[in-house]
Amino acid sequence: MPLYDFECPKCAHRFEAFRRMNEGWEDLPCPACGAPGPRKLVSAFKTDAWSKFLDDMERKISPEKFR
Ligand SMILES: [Zn+2]
Repeated sequence: MPLYDFECPKCAHRFEAFRRMNEGWEDLPCPACGAPGPRKLVSAFKTDAWSKFLDDMERKISPEKFR
């Protein structure tokens, strides 16, 4: 089962969750504030370190995404 990264639209908390391909994540509650409908971040199968590395890279390449 792929592991996905999500970001809460309400409190910007980031968390990971396993989702099946045919499962949606619209109703996935944020573990920090309980708000549903997180934003899915990039791809599966990565560690926190890898995720942070990609974030840092993207911040350098396209900082307009992080304004
Ligand atoms: Zn939240």
